[in-house]
Amino acid sequence: MQFLLQLKRKYDKLTEGKYGFDTLSRDMMILWVIIGFLNRFIRSRIVEFAALVLPVLALLRVFSEAVYKRSNENRKYLEIREKVFQFVKIHFMMIKESKTHRYYKCKNCSSYIRVKRKKGEHYVDCPKCGKEIKVKIR
Ligand SMILES: [Zn+2]
Repeated sequence: MQFLLQLKRKYDKLTEGKYGFDTLSRDMMILWVIIGFLNRFIRSRIVEFAALVLPVLALLRVFSEAVYKRSNENRKYLEIREKVFQFVKIHFMMIKESKTHRYYKCKNCSSYIRVKRKKGEHYVDCPKCGKEIKVKIR
């Protein structure tokens, strides 16, 4: 128990005033592991060394004292990550529901509108901006 307390004190002293782990650093480490796994099949030295940039950068970020800068990087990363997740999610739903629904992009606000697949011309309101959109389902 005493050993664990000493270890905790050492860790706290080491990370005092440092930025610490965030989503970007964590995802960089995960990506490094994934690339390492995939490289077992590719067996490329170039990929292996290029991928080493990821954990090095992640650890530099963790022990960085420029908390504001690292925080901004993480915020921007989260915005991009969210857009990618939304894109993947909506396209997954488009494929999954292709027999029962159609998806249209609102020309006014770019959000997706899910319409029940029923032949003919329909007028639907965008749930985000409220603009009426004419859709034609064949
Ligand atoms: Zn809209």
